[in-house]
Amino acid sequence: MSRPPSPRTRDDWQALAEGLSLEGRAFIGDVFVDAASGDTFESRNPATGEILARVASCDEPDAERAVAAAREAFAGGEWSRLAPGKRKKVLLRLADLMEANKHELALIDTLDMGKPVSSSLGDMAGAIGCIRYQAECIDKLYGEVAPTGEETLALVLREPIGVVAAIVPWNFPLMMTAWKIAPALAAGNSVILKPSEKSPLSALRLASLAREAGLPRGVFQVLPGFGHTVGKALALSMQVDCLAFTGSTQVGKQLMQYAGQSNLKRVYLECGGKSPNLVFADCKDLDRVASHAAAAIFHNQGEVCIAGSRLLVENAIRAEFVDKVVEAAKAMQPGDPLDPGSFMGAMVDETQYRRVLDYIAKGREEGARLRAGGQALESPGLFIPPTIFDGVTPAMAIGREEIFGPVLSVFGFDTEEEAIAMANDTPYGLAAGLWSQDIDRIMRVTRRLQSGQVFVNNWAGGDQTMPFGGVKQSGNGRDKSHHSLEEYSELKSVWMSLTL
Ligand code: NAD
Repeated sequence: MSRPPSPRTRDDWQALAEGLSLEGRAFIGDVFVDAASGDTFESRNPATGEILARVASCDEPDAERAVAAAREAFAGGEWSRLAPGKRKKVLLRLADLMEANKHELALIDTLDMGKPVSSSLGDMAGAIGCIRYQAECIDKLYGEVAPTGEETLALVLREPIGVVAAIVPWNFPLMMTAWKIAPALAAGNSVILKPSEKSPLSALRLASLAREAGLPRGVFQVLPGFGHTVGKALALSMQVDCLAFTGSTQVGKQLMQYAGQSNLKRVYLECGGKSPNLVFADCKDLDRVASHAAAAIFHNQGEVCIAGSRLLVENAIRAEFVDKVVEAAKAMQPGDPLDPGSFMGAMVDETQYRRVLDYIAKGREEGARLRAGGQALESPGLFIPPTIFDGVTPAMAIGREEIFGPVLSVFGFDTEEEAIAMANDTPYGLAAGLWSQDIDRIMRVTRRLQSGQVFVNNWAGGDQTMPFGGVKQSGNGRDKSHHSLEEYSELKSVWMSLTL
C-alpha cells in the first residue's frame, strides 16, 4: 500500500491538520468511552486559540473501572505471563505502527501543546526508539542463580509488579509517555496512562494503535482528566501497585503522601530542575558554546525539565560570552509551530504564559539586567521570545525557581570552587553541563556536581542506552536504558532445598 507523501512545508502540515479526526474519549478495557459523569474539558491549540476537541474528564469511577480491567488482565496472564519474546513482538508491532503514523502523532502534539512540528517529529523518533529498545531488552534479561552450596538451589526471579499508573506532563507528551509505558509493558505489567490535561490527544491516538498492535484488553488504558480528580484517584487506589510519575516536584511530593495513605505503592518520580550550565574561560570556540548554551534553554520554548536555565560563566569572559549568547538567541525566535523552520512555538496555555511573564517582571524588579526579550509577542497566540537576564544572583526568584519557559539567568563566577558551590546551591539535581578544554578540570567538576546527568561539552546528549533521572528534589526514578526495567519488576527470591 502506498503511503501519502511526507509533509514538508507549512501548507502540507496545515492540510494534514485539516484532515485530522481527533479522539477525545477515554480508553477503558479495550474501547473508547465517555467519562462516567459525561463531563468533558476543552483541548485548545495555544498557537491559535482554536478548540481542537472536547476530551473526557475522567474521575474516580473511571479510575475504578480501569483499575478493575487492569487487575483482571494481570491476573488472567495473557500479557503478564506471556513469554517475554512474545511481548517483544507486540511492542515492536506498536513501534512500527507509530512509525507509520508518526506525522499524525507529531502533528497532534504540536496542535495540542504548541511546540514546533520539527521538534515533535524529533520526539516521535525518541518515543518509537524507546519502545523498540525496551522491547528488545526484555528477552535478554536473565534472572540469577545465587552462589550457594550444593544442598540448595537459590534463584532470583524477576516478575512484573502488577498495575502501573503512569502520570505524565505536557512538555513532551508522547515521548514522556513512551519512557514510562515501554519498560512497564515490556516487563509484563498492566498500565493505566493519565496524560496531562494540557496535552491528552496523542495518548488517545496511541491507545488505538496499541489495540491494533495486539495488546490484550485492560493491558494499556488511557484516562484523560485532571490531576486532582482522576490522577489523585489512581494515586490513592489500593489496587495500583506502582506510580510512575513525571512532572513537578510539588506534585511528586504529593504522590508520595498518597502512596503512604494508601497501599505503599512504589513511587518513581522524575521531577523539576533548575539546571546549571558552567562555562569556563579556557573554552576554545566560544561562538559554538554560546549557541549551545542558548539552545539549552530556548529549545521547546524553555518548557524542558533539563533546560539549562542557569548559565554560570567565568567572569573573565562573561561580557564577551553573554553578547554571543544574545546574538545566538536572535535566531531562535518563536514562530508558527506548523512551520518546519520555527525553532520555538507557543507556550502551552494561558496559565503557563502568565507564569513566565510574571517571572520576567520579577527579574526586572529584583534588579537583574535584561539583555534580550522580556515581552510577549503581539499575537493572538501565546508567544514569548528568548529572554536573557545577566547579573542574576542566587537570592533572586529567577535564579532559584523553575520557570519552565524561555528565560535564561546568567551568573558570574571567578573560581572553580565558586562555580561548583553555585551549581549545587539548589534543591534540584536533574542535569548540569560544563564546558572546558581541561580534562583534569572536567573530571574534578563532573564528580562534584550533584546531578542525575552531567553533559560535558554538549547539552542534553544521551540516547536509549543511558538512564535519565535526577537526584535531590528532582526525583528518584530512572527512565530509559535497561535500568528502567528494574523499576517495573519485582525480585522474587526462591531458596530450594535439595536435600529432602
Ligand atoms: P504537574 O506536576 O503539574 O503535572 C504532571 C502530571 O501530574 C499531570 O498529568 C497532572 O494532571 C498530574 N497531577 C497534578 N496534580 C496531581 C495530583 N494531585 N494527583 C495526581 N496527579 C496529579 O507538571 P506539569 O506542569 O505537567 O509539567 C511540568 C513539570 O514537569 C516541570 O516541573 C518539569 O520540570 C517536570 N518534568 C520533569 C521531567 C523529568 O524527566 N524529570 C520531564 C518533563 C517534565
